[in-house]
Amino acid sequence: MKHILVTGGAGYIGAHTVHLLLRRGYEVTVVDDLSRGHRHNVAPDRLRILPLADTDRLTELLRSKPFEAVVHFAAYIAVGESSREPEMYFTNNVSGSLSLFTAMARAQVSRLVFSSTAAVYGTPARVPITEDMPIQPVSPYGDSKAMVEKILGWLDQRRELRSISLRYFNACGAEPDSGLGEEHDPETHLIPLLLRAVETGHPITLFGDDYATPDGTCIRDYIHVSDLAEAHILALEHLIGGGASHAFNAGTGTGHSVLEVLRAVEQVTGEKVPHTMGPRRAGDAAVLVADSNQLQSTLGWKPRYTDLREIVRTAFEFARKR
Ligand code: UDP
Repeated sequence: MKHILVTGGAGYIGAHTVHLLLRRGYEVTVVDDLSRGHRHNVAPDRLRILPLADTDRLTELLRSKPFEAVVHFAAYIAVGESSREPEMYFTNNVSGSLSLFTAMARAQVSRLVFSSTAAVYGTPARVPITEDMPIQPVSPYGDSKAMVEKILGWLDQRRELRSISLRYFNACGAEPDSGLGEEHDPETHLIPLLLRAVETGHPITLFGDDYATPDGTCIRDYIHVSDLAEAHILALEHLIGGGASHAFNAGTGTGHSVLEVLRAVEQVTGEKVPHTMGPRRAGDAAVLVADSNQLQSTLGWKPRYTDLREIVRTAFEFARKR
């Protein structure tokens, strides 16, 4: 039985990954301070409520079992909030990660899968985005992840800490049968907000229709959270098998505009989405689509969800069950 420590396992992507790890026969311990995650996402016997900043207790925990690896999700994730509270983002996301890496070095745990983000690319010069394109984040959030990736580069060299950073594009969807789905508070993401607009009748504001895209709205690469969870498991297996450190884009390679997503929500729910068109949101790039060939060829990953409506359907089922 392989023991894996998952930080932030009470959050959205973390909880889906824990669920899949357990189904694949791993033994999982979750560390979460529950500042953003949800207690109901984790079985009480595997949850340790602990801030990442507590290096000593993390070390103790990592020494308590023969952990093969750590999957590190715990972080703040809201781009807008990071611009208002940069200190909070760098403290939690960068200092918190350093505390974890220090504990790992002390406990001699030397494999890590890290939640990174497409936001490390900022406003990319071309799409689809390949991993060799410049790292130029335009928000404290994106930079906090870029900084951790950089630290991981040094720890690979100096501490033999082998890591896979997965640069997520737009994670979405749910595993409604397992009671798991997107529950951010406040919610800022497009699909849950479109579903909420249908449910409440309060219009959602769409952020701009004057982009240089076919319908004028922003294009994003929407990846189902379970496909993302699968990428984490493949990354773990790669590291456990002695594989080298890497950063991979995690996206499907297909882009959808905001209006296309809105239409998918209308098809799935059978209702009109009340909406108004607003101005652009600061920091939004027109098009963000992944080239995920490296993830596919190196780790053998392939997205199972390739139809946007299927993805939306899982999110809708989760929203209905809540
Ligand atoms: N979006 C929107 N209205 C909202 C929330 C999001 O028009 O209330 C747009 C946003 O501008 C972007 C896309 O939906 O083009 C996806 O945004 P989200 O916040 O879900 O993810 P991000 O791309 O920022 O990671």
